[in-house]
Amino acid sequence: MEQTPNDTQIARDILNKFGLPTTFEGIRIKIGRWRKQWQVEAKRIPIKRLFFDIETGYYILKIRAWQLKNFQRYFNYEDIEQEKQIICISYKWQYEDKVHTLDWRMGEKQMLKEFIKIMGEATEVVAHNGDKFDIRFIRTRCLAHGILMYPNYRSLDTLKKARSGFLFASNRLDYLCKFMNVGGKLEHDGFDLWKDVVEGKSEERLNEMIKYCERDVIMLEDLYFILSPFITHNNNFAVLTGGEKWYCPECASANVKMFRTYSTPMGIIRREMKCNDCKKQYKISNKNYILMLQDLMNGN
Ligand SMILES: [Zn+2]
Repeated sequence: MEQTPNDTQIARDILNKFGLPTTFEGIRIKIGRWRKQWQVEAKRIPIKRLFFDIETGYYILKIRAWQLKNFQRYFNYEDIEQEKQIICISYKWQYEDKVHTLDWRMGEKQMLKEFIKIMGEATEVVAHNGDKFDIRFIRTRCLAHGILMYPNYRSLDTLKKARSGFLFASNRLDYLCKFMNVGGKLEHDGFDLWKDVVEGKSEERLNEMIKYCERDVIMLEDLYFILSPFITHNNNFAVLTGGEKWYCPECASANVKMFRTYSTPMGIIRREMKCNDCKKQYKISNKNYILMLQDLMNGN
């Protein structure tokens, strides 16, 4: 229980192992309380993983038409009266309990300025469809406001990982979290909510949207930790925190074992590894495996 900061992951492990006649949520709450009571602190590595999600408005188009049937034509950029903006950005750091939100009441520009600073501090940014949508759209709005932003971020897109490694009925965050038994999205009344926020400027409805966005960030983190042992990593946190290349790339633990050897068609030996702490499975080169054996022989 000291090895993972995530109560959800532990609750899933317990349910999968023992199949207790109780609800998932019940177990998760009990684990949270138990850990608090006994002050079980999860092992932390000095990395900053940022989970985030954005909500955007929509394009408002102007339409000039002689006849109604013309409304059915394809719209293009010339019809844009008002550009789509980012309404709010919710984010959470790994190891922290609080979900933060920045929203456009401070102005989209100011909101982006603040968030770009936060993104810049992150060792890895995690978002669902982040590579294709969130990061690109944030960059687009930053460009519009003249806010500098890095051309590259070390990211991990849970949608990409879900698509490439599994065959889910749907790759939507809501479905994936329901599939993994970690809850689903908050209910909302769809486009009406957006209309009230964008055109009605309703603060009450904006707060509702923020709750929805924050819930998505919590789900995203849960999804990430459940997927983690099954997916390849994009960043090596062992090396980033001063560890050896054979350490676990996820939790930087040296408590790992080699479980399989294979060779590439070119005859290069690779070692498949498993972390005893966080269950991450990963590959290392034979050279690094030999280093590991030397380290272990030297009692390091
Ligand atoms: Zn690990």
